[in-house]
Amino acid sequence: MASGASAGRFFTFGKEYVPLDQWARANSFQWKWVSKNETHAWSGWSKMQFTTDSKRMVLNGVNVLLSEPVKNRDGVPCIANIDLATAITPVVFPPKHRARNQIKHIIIDPGHGGKDTGYLVGQEQEKKYTLLLAQELGEQLRKAGYAVSFTRASDTFVDLPVRPELARRRGADLFISLHFNSAGYKSSSVSGVEVYCMTPQRASSTNARGEGGNSGAFDGNANNAKNMLLAYQLQKAITHTAGLEDRGVKRARFAVLREARMPAALIEGGFMSNPAEAKKIYSAAWRKQMATAIANGIASYRKAVEP
Ligand SMILES: [Zn+2]
Repeated sequence: MASGASAGRFFTFGKEYVPLDQWARANSFQWKWVSKNETHAWSGWSKMQFTTDSKRMVLNGVNVLLSEPVKNRDGVPCIANIDLATAITPVVFPPKHRARNQIKHIIIDPGHGGKDTGYLVGQEQEKKYTLLLAQELGEQLRKAGYAVSFTRASDTFVDLPVRPELARRRGADLFISLHFNSAGYKSSSVSGVEVYCMTPQRASSTNARGEGGNSGAFDGNANNAKNMLLAYQLQKAITHTAGLEDRGVKRARFAVLREARMPAALIEGGFMSNPAEAKKIYSAAWRKQMATAIANGIASYRKAVEP
Protein backbone atom coordinates (compact mmCIF):
# COMPACT_ATOMS: atom_id res chain seq x y z
CA MET A 1 0.00 0.00 0.00
CA ALA A 2 1.27 3.46 -0.83
CA SER A 3 1.81 5.73 2.14
CA GLY A 4 0.08 9.11 2.38
CA ALA A 5 3.14 11.02 1.17
CA SER A 6 3.53 8.94 -1.98
CA ALA A 7 -0.15 8.42 -2.81
CA GLY A 8 -0.85 9.06 -6.45
CA ARG A 9 2.76 8.71 -7.51
CA PHE A 10 3.41 6.23 -10.29
CA PHE A 11 6.18 4.88 -12.48
CA THR A 12 6.19 4.85 -16.26
CA PHE A 13 9.17 3.52 -18.26
CA GLY A 14 11.09 3.47 -14.99
CA LYS A 15 10.51 7.17 -14.23
CA GLU A 16 8.67 8.25 -11.11
CA TYR A 17 5.94 10.84 -11.65
CA VAL A 18 4.31 13.11 -9.07
CA PRO A 19 0.77 14.50 -9.54
CA LEU A 20 0.95 18.30 -9.66
CA ASP A 21 -1.93 18.69 -7.18
CA GLN A 22 0.07 16.77 -4.58
CA TRP A 23 3.27 18.77 -5.21
CA ALA A 24 1.34 22.06 -5.24
CA ARG A 25 -0.29 21.32 -1.86
CA ALA A 26 3.06 20.46 -0.27
CA ASN A 27 4.77 23.57 -1.67
CA SER A 28 1.99 26.19 -1.33
CA PHE A 29 1.33 26.53 -5.05
CA GLN A 30 -2.04 26.82 -6.78
CA TRP A 31 -2.69 25.30 -10.18
CA LYS A 32 -5.32 25.04 -12.90
CA TRP A 33 -5.83 23.88 -16.46
CA VAL A 34 -5.91 26.90 -18.79
CA SER A 35 -6.71 24.84 -21.91
CA LYS A 36 -6.97 21.18 -22.89
CA ASN A 37 -3.18 20.69 -22.74
CA GLU A 38 -1.89 23.70 -20.79
CA THR A 39 -1.52 23.94 -17.03
CA HIS A 40 -0.42 26.88 -14.93
CA ALA A 41 0.89 26.64 -11.39
CA TRP A 42 1.79 29.67 -9.31
CA SER A 43 2.74 31.02 -5.90
CA GLY A 44 3.38 34.58 -4.74
CA TRP A 45 6.82 34.51 -6.39
CA SER A 46 6.81 31.93 -9.14
CA LYS A 47 4.78 30.94 -12.17
CA MET A 48 5.08 27.70 -14.10
CA GLN A 49 3.46 26.71 -17.38
CA PHE A 50 3.31 23.05 -18.45
CA THR A 51 2.16 21.41 -21.66
CA THR A 52 0.92 17.81 -21.65
CA ASP A 53 3.28 15.36 -23.44
CA SER A 54 5.92 18.08 -23.79
CA LYS A 55 9.33 18.51 -22.15
CA ARG A 56 9.25 22.27 -22.66
CA MET A 57 8.00 24.30 -19.71
CA VAL A 58 8.03 28.01 -18.96
CA LEU A 59 9.42 28.90 -15.54
CA ASN A 60 8.98 32.56 -14.56
CA GLY A 61 9.00 33.52 -18.23
CA VAL A 62 12.04 31.38 -19.16
CA ASN A 63 11.90 28.23 -21.31
CA VAL A 64 13.29 25.17 -19.53
CA LEU A 65 13.67 21.77 -21.18
CA LEU A 66 12.68 19.02 -18.76
CA SER A 67 14.20 15.52 -18.85
CA GLU A 68 10.78 13.85 -19.15
CA PRO A 69 7.51 14.95 -20.75
CA VAL A 70 4.61 16.10 -18.58
CA LYS A 71 1.78 13.51 -18.42
CA ASN A 72 -1.94 13.86 -17.96
CA ARG A 73 -3.20 11.10 -15.68
CA ASP A 74 -6.92 11.07 -14.93
CA GLY A 75 -7.15 14.81 -15.50
CA VAL A 76 -4.18 15.70 -13.28
CA PRO A 77 -0.89 16.90 -14.79
CA CYS A 78 2.02 14.79 -13.54
CA ILE A 79 5.66 15.87 -13.50
CA ALA A 80 8.65 13.51 -13.38
CA ASN A 81 10.16 13.52 -9.91
CA ILE A 82 13.65 14.05 -11.35
CA ASP A 83 12.45 17.30 -12.98
CA LEU A 84 10.78 18.53 -9.80
CA ALA A 85 13.97 17.82 -7.88
CA THR A 86 16.62 19.01 -10.33
CA ALA A 87 14.96 21.61 -12.61
CA ILE A 88 12.06 23.24 -10.75
CA THR A 89 12.97 23.18 -7.05
CA PRO A 90 16.43 24.79 -7.53
CA VAL A 91 14.77 27.78 -9.19
CA VAL A 92 11.67 28.26 -7.02
CA PHE A 93 13.45 27.36 -3.76
CA PRO A 94 17.09 28.38 -4.43
CA PRO A 95 19.83 26.50 -2.57
CA LYS A 96 21.66 28.80 -0.12
CA HIS A 97 25.39 28.96 0.49
CA ARG A 98 26.64 28.67 4.01
CA ALA A 99 27.76 31.99 5.51
CA ARG A 100 31.18 33.23 4.31
CA ASN A 101 31.01 30.97 1.27
CA GLN A 102 30.87 33.81 -1.24
CA ILE A 103 31.35 34.09 -4.97
CA LYS A 104 34.62 35.95 -5.45
CA HIS A 105 36.45 34.34 -8.35
CA ILE A 106 34.89 33.64 -11.74
CA ILE A 107 36.68 31.70 -14.45
CA ILE A 108 35.63 32.41 -18.02
CA ASP A 109 36.13 29.67 -20.60
CA PRO A 110 36.24 30.98 -24.19
CA GLY A 111 35.23 27.98 -26.32
CA HIS A 112 37.76 26.40 -28.75
CA GLY A 113 41.07 28.09 -29.70
CA GLY A 114 44.24 27.38 -31.70
CA LYS A 115 43.82 24.39 -34.05
CA ASP A 116 40.19 24.00 -32.81
CA THR A 117 38.36 26.78 -34.64
CA GLY A 118 34.87 25.86 -33.49
CA TYR A 119 32.18 26.55 -36.07
CA LEU A 120 33.29 28.01 -39.39
CA VAL A 121 30.78 30.21 -41.19
CA GLY A 122 32.25 31.75 -44.32
CA GLN A 123 35.55 33.28 -43.18
CA GLU A 124 34.43 33.61 -39.58
CA GLN A 125 35.67 31.31 -36.82
CA GLU A 126 33.78 30.75 -33.59
CA LYS A 127 37.01 30.74 -31.51
CA LYS A 128 37.66 34.39 -32.35
CA TYR A 129 34.30 35.61 -31.05
CA THR A 130 34.24 33.45 -27.90
CA LEU A 131 37.56 35.07 -26.93
CA LEU A 132 36.37 38.60 -27.73
CA LEU A 133 33.19 38.09 -25.67
CA ALA A 134 35.25 36.56 -22.84
CA GLN A 135 37.52 39.61 -22.75
CA GLU A 136 34.55 41.99 -22.64
CA LEU A 137 32.85 39.91 -19.91
CA GLY A 138 36.08 39.72 -17.91
CA GLU A 139 36.45 43.48 -17.97
CA GLN A 140 32.88 44.01 -16.76
CA LEU A 141 33.17 41.40 -14.00
CA ARG A 142 36.43 42.94 -12.76
CA LYS A 143 34.74 46.33 -12.61
CA ALA A 144 31.98 44.68 -10.56
CA GLY A 145 34.62 43.57 -8.05
CA TYR A 146 35.22 39.91 -8.95
CA ALA A 147 38.55 38.22 -9.42
CA VAL A 148 38.50 36.94 -13.01
CA SER A 149 40.61 34.38 -14.80
CA PHE A 150 40.44 32.67 -18.18
CA THR A 151 41.05 29.13 -19.41
CA ARG A 152 42.74 30.78 -22.39
CA ALA A 153 43.64 34.43 -22.94
CA SER A 154 44.83 34.15 -26.55
CA ASP A 155 44.29 32.03 -29.66
CA THR A 156 45.72 28.86 -28.14
CA PHE A 157 44.50 25.27 -28.02
CA VAL A 158 43.46 24.06 -24.56
CA ASP A 159 42.23 20.48 -24.23
CA LEU A 160 38.70 20.14 -22.85
CA PRO A 161 39.58 18.25 -19.62
CA VAL A 162 42.29 20.83 -18.85
CA ARG A 163 39.72 23.65 -18.64
CA PRO A 164 37.79 22.53 -15.52
CA GLU A 165 41.12 21.41 -14.05
CA LEU A 166 42.48 24.96 -14.41
CA ALA A 167 39.33 26.25 -12.72
CA ARG A 168 39.83 23.89 -9.80
CA ARG A 169 43.52 24.72 -9.35
CA ARG A 170 42.82 28.44 -9.34
CA GLY A 171 40.05 28.05 -6.78
CA ALA A 172 37.31 29.54 -8.98
CA ASP A 173 33.80 29.76 -7.53
CA LEU A 174 31.95 29.78 -10.88
CA PHE A 175 32.76 28.42 -14.35
CA ILE A 176 31.25 30.18 -17.37
CA SER A 177 31.89 28.65 -20.80
CA LEU A 178 31.20 30.79 -23.89
CA HIS A 179 30.25 29.44 -27.32
CA PHE A 180 28.33 30.42 -30.43
CA ASN A 181 26.07 28.13 -32.38
CA SER A 182 25.58 27.04 -36.00
CA ALA A 183 22.74 25.15 -37.64
CA GLY A 184 24.43 24.89 -41.06
CA TYR A 185 23.84 26.98 -44.16
CA LYS A 186 20.56 25.17 -44.93
CA SER A 187 19.05 26.31 -41.61
CA SER A 188 19.93 29.98 -41.68
CA SER A 189 16.65 30.97 -40.01
CA VAL A 190 17.42 29.10 -36.76
CA SER A 191 18.25 31.63 -34.05
CA GLY A 192 18.40 32.27 -30.34
CA VAL A 193 20.30 31.50 -27.17
CA GLU A 194 20.51 28.33 -25.12
CA VAL A 195 22.28 27.85 -21.81
CA TYR A 196 23.40 24.36 -20.84
CA CYS A 197 24.02 22.86 -17.44
CA MET A 198 25.17 19.39 -16.44
CA THR A 199 22.62 16.59 -16.87
CA PRO A 200 21.66 15.08 -13.49
CA GLN A 201 22.63 11.46 -12.87
CA ARG A 202 20.16 8.94 -14.37
CA ALA A 203 18.55 11.68 -16.51
CA SER A 204 18.65 12.15 -20.28
CA SER A 205 20.42 15.07 -21.91
CA THR A 206 18.23 17.43 -23.91
CA ASN A 207 19.41 16.51 -27.41
CA ALA A 208 20.29 12.90 -26.75
CA ARG A 209 17.09 10.94 -27.43
CA GLY A 210 17.24 9.07 -24.15
CA GLU A 211 21.03 8.59 -24.12
CA GLY A 212 22.58 8.51 -20.69
CA GLY A 213 19.41 7.65 -18.84
CA ASN A 214 21.45 5.21 -16.79
CA SER A 215 24.47 7.45 -16.41
CA GLY A 216 25.96 7.71 -12.94
CA ALA A 217 27.38 10.76 -11.18
CA PHE A 218 30.31 12.88 -12.35
CA ASP A 219 32.07 15.67 -10.45
CA GLY A 220 29.69 18.17 -12.05
CA ASN A 221 26.72 16.46 -10.39
CA ALA A 222 27.84 17.62 -6.94
CA ASN A 223 26.32 20.99 -7.88
CA ASN A 224 23.12 19.92 -9.69
CA ALA A 225 20.89 22.51 -8.01
CA LYS A 226 23.30 25.43 -8.36
CA ASN A 227 24.14 24.50 -11.96
CA MET A 228 20.45 24.70 -12.81
CA LEU A 229 19.89 27.98 -10.99
CA LEU A 230 22.95 29.52 -12.67
CA ALA A 231 21.85 28.39 -16.15
CA TYR A 232 18.33 29.68 -15.51
CA GLN A 233 19.51 33.11 -14.31
CA LEU A 234 21.85 33.42 -17.31
CA GLN A 235 19.12 32.42 -19.79
CA LYS A 236 16.70 34.87 -18.17
CA ALA A 237 19.16 37.77 -18.23
CA ILE A 238 20.31 37.12 -21.80
CA THR A 239 16.83 36.72 -23.30
CA HIS A 240 15.54 39.76 -21.42
CA THR A 241 18.40 42.16 -22.14
CA ALA A 242 20.44 41.00 -25.15
CA GLY A 243 17.47 40.60 -27.49
CA LEU A 244 17.93 36.93 -28.34
CA GLU A 245 15.15 34.38 -28.79
CA ASP A 246 14.73 31.98 -25.85
CA ARG A 247 15.62 28.44 -26.96
CA GLY A 248 15.62 27.27 -23.38
CA VAL A 249 17.77 26.03 -20.55
CA LYS A 250 19.11 22.65 -21.66
CA ARG A 251 21.07 19.72 -20.27
CA ALA A 252 24.24 18.15 -21.61
CA ARG A 253 27.16 16.10 -20.29
CA PHE A 254 29.70 18.33 -22.06
CA ALA A 255 33.24 17.59 -20.86
CA VAL A 256 33.69 21.00 -19.22
CA LEU A 257 30.38 20.68 -17.32
CA ARG A 258 30.96 17.03 -16.41
CA GLU A 259 34.31 17.69 -14.73
CA ALA A 260 33.62 21.11 -13.15
CA ARG A 261 33.97 21.09 -9.36
CA MET A 262 32.14 24.42 -8.99
CA PRO A 263 28.73 25.56 -10.35
CA ALA A 264 29.10 25.75 -14.13
CA ALA A 265 27.12 26.72 -17.23
CA LEU A 266 27.80 26.80 -20.96
CA ILE A 267 26.27 29.58 -23.04
CA GLU A 268 25.50 29.12 -26.75
CA GLY A 269 25.09 32.84 -27.39
CA GLY A 270 23.39 32.91 -30.78
CA PHE A 271 23.79 31.41 -34.26
CA MET A 272 26.62 32.37 -36.59
CA SER A 273 24.65 30.56 -39.32
CA ASN A 274 21.84 33.11 -39.04
CA PRO A 275 22.91 36.25 -40.94
CA ALA A 276 21.04 38.68 -38.66
CA GLU A 277 22.39 37.07 -35.52
CA ALA A 278 25.90 36.73 -36.96
CA LYS A 279 25.95 40.50 -37.52
CA LYS A 280 25.33 40.97 -33.81
CA ILE A 281 27.96 38.42 -32.76
CA TYR A 282 30.58 40.15 -34.95
CA SER A 283 29.76 43.58 -33.47
CA ALA A 284 31.68 44.87 -30.46
CA ALA A 285 28.69 46.97 -29.35
CA TRP A 286 26.40 43.93 -29.21
CA ARG A 287 29.02 41.81 -27.45
CA LYS A 288 29.23 44.52 -24.81
CA GLN A 289 25.47 44.26 -24.32
CA MET A 290 25.73 40.45 -24.20
CA ALA A 291 28.51 40.64 -21.59
CA THR A 292 26.34 42.96 -19.49
CA ALA A 293 23.47 40.47 -19.71
CA ILE A 294 25.74 37.61 -18.58
CA ALA A 295 27.08 39.74 -15.71
CA ASN A 296 23.48 40.54 -14.71
CA GLY A 297 22.63 36.84 -14.74
CA ILE A 298 25.62 36.13 -12.47
CA ALA A 299 24.49 38.93 -10.13
CA SER A 300 20.97 37.45 -9.92
CA TYR A 301 22.41 34.01 -9.23
CA ARG A 302 24.64 35.41 -6.51
CA LYS A 303 21.73 37.27 -4.91
CA ALA A 304 19.70 34.05 -4.86
CA VAL A 305 22.36 31.82 -3.29
CA GLU A 306 24.22 34.10 -0.90
CA PRO A 307 22.94 34.17 2.66
ZN1 LIG B 1 31.54 25.99 -29.60
